Amino acid sequence: MRKKFIAGNWKMNTTIDEAVALAKDVVKTMGNTSDVDIAICPPYTSLYAVSEVLKGSTVKLGAQDVHWEAKGAFTGKVSCAMLKSVGVTYVIIGHSEQRTYFHETNETVNKKVKATLAAGLLPIICVGETLEERKSGKMDAVIESHTVGAFAGISAEDALKCTIAYEPVWAIGTGETATPQQANEAHIFIRKLLVKLYGTSTAEQIRIQYGGSMKADNAKALLGQSDVDGGLIGGASLKASDFAGIVKPV
Ligand code: PEP
Repeated sequence: MRKKFIAGNWKMNTTIDEAVALAKDVVKTMGNTSDVDIAICPPYTSLYAVSEVLKGSTVKLGAQDVHWEAKGAFTGKVSCAMLKSVGVTYVIIGHSEQRTYFHETNETVNKKVKATLAAGLLPIICVGETLEERKSGKMDAVIESHTVGAFAGISAEDALKCTIAYEPVWAIGTGETATPQQANEAHIFIRKLLVKLYGTSTAEQIRIQYGGSMKADNAKALLGQSDVDGGLIGGASLKASDFAGIVKPV
C-alpha cells in the first residue's frame, strides 16, 4: 500500500515574509498530518526561513531544482549540499517549465537525480507530454523517454527513494485537468515501464503523483484512482486552505 504524497510547488512566488506566513498557515492546518506525506517547495531564497517554520511539524521541505555539480563556477546554481544545509528533504527535478524554458533534457534530469540520491535527498521526477505530443500520438514515447532517461543507471534500491510526478504539460496552470481515467492510464503506463526497469515488487512501491490543475474539487476523484499516489500542486498550493482542501480527501 503506497502512502499518498502531496507536494506544493510554489514556483517563483513569495518573498521571505510571504513564504513564512504561508508556511505557518500550512503548519497550522496540516502540521500534524501523518496519514499523508506533505511537502512544500518554496523558492531558494525562502528555504531557510521556511525550514525554521516547519521544525516540529510533519510537513517536509522541498526545493524546485538543483545543480548536479558539487561546487564551483556555476553562477546562479545551487548544489545538493547547499539544499541539505537548509533542511531540504525533496527536490523537484525535470519540471516541464525547466524543460521548456531552461534547456532541461533527459540527460540533465538524470545527472540531477544521481546527485540528489548521492546526497541523501529524495527526487520528485517530473514527466509528461505536451498537447501537441498527445495529439500526434507521441504521448507514450515521450513519457517513456522521460522515465527511462531519468532512471538510467539508478539502482532498484535508489529508485525506491524516488517519486514520479506525471504532469501533462497541457494541464499545468491552465485550469484544464486530465480526467481521473486519463491520469490513471498514464500512471499505469509509467508503472509498467518501472516493472520493465526494476521488476514488479519495486515498481509497486514507487509513488506516482499527478500534477496539473489539481484542486480541492477534483482531488478526490483523481486521488481515488488505483495508481494515483498523490499530487504535485502548483497554483492551489499558494493558499493554505486550498492546499488543505486537496490533502483532506486523501
Ligand atoms: C506544477 O507546476 O507542478 C503544477 C501542477 O501546477 P498547477 O497545479 O498550477 O497546474
